[in-house]
Amino acid sequence: MLFDPLYAVPFFLYGLALGSFLNVCIYRLPRGISVVQPGSACPACQAPIAWYDNLPVVSWLALRGRCRTCQARISLRYLLVEVLTGLLFVACYAGFGWTLSTFKFCAFAFLLVGLIFTDAEHKLLPDALTLPGLGIGLGLSLLVPVQDLGSRLLTAWVRLPVSSDISWRLLSLVDSGLGAAVGASFIYGVGAIYRRARGVEGMGFGDVKLMGMVGAFLGVKLTIFTLFAASLLGSIFGLAAVLAVWWKRTRRRIVRLHEPAATARKRAWKSARMVYRYYQMPFGVFLGSMALLAAFFGNTLIGWYWGFYR
Ligand SMILES: [Zn+2]
Repeated sequence: MLFDPLYAVPFFLYGLALGSFLNVCIYRLPRGISVVQPGSACPACQAPIAWYDNLPVVSWLALRGRCRTCQARISLRYLLVEVLTGLLFVACYAGFGWTLSTFKFCAFAFLLVGLIFTDAEHKLLPDALTLPGLGIGLGLSLLVPVQDLGSRLLTAWVRLPVSSDISWRLLSLVDSGLGAAVGASFIYGVGAIYRRARGVEGMGFGDVKLMGMVGAFLGVKLTIFTLFAASLLGSIFGLAAVLAVWWKRTRRRIVRLHEPAATARKRAWKSARMVYRYYQMPFGVFLGSMALLAAFFGNTLIGWYWGFYR
């Protein structure tokens, strides 16, 4: 693949600009404020932000992460989202070259970064991103072939008019729709089981729509990869959180309350179990980040995994 740094620069700059817009979405969508009107203002003092204080990355660094008027801290998230979107756009160009696929995966990365950070901050996955995302994913399958399991099975069983331009587009749309159906229904099923078993909401409808969108972009195979990787990551994260609480509480009880170590451990285990029971994991963060991994490295990782078991 030809990687021209001269092309990479505009990709990075577009990423920064769109990342800056995502920051507006992350703040406003969960609050029900329009993302177009009014112009940017400081969340702390409501002072309008001049264009030169609203430039991606540069302004944050120049102001050292503080509002010019009231000196309130501006979250590091603003910087992170901009740089991450910029880097992902460059990664799309590096991975897919000067093709329609690059455009498709830039759109995918844009939507996912917005969703990941909104879920991390607000435990919400706004419809304003997931539903258009689902539509864009389905629509783009008509331009960029998804090439997945569904179409391969279909062509094995059914004789389709060969080599016509329409047939690959239709097959690609089938793969995209199948991916969306598998992703959404898997999360819906897991959520229903979870509700029955533990009586608490584990995964909401936001996650269902998110995986519908992911499936439409990636097709069935990479959607299953995403689900698998996200479950693994979520389990490791959950286990680490429970152990961290257990360890912290044990130490605090020994130091502060002078409890014998065994009693302290026992009680700490109790609070760790409470955390396990009631802590709501931002599962969209895991699903979203693993979907990004799948988009770039999914096929390589799957091939590598099967290579082991041959
Ligand atoms: Zn301010």
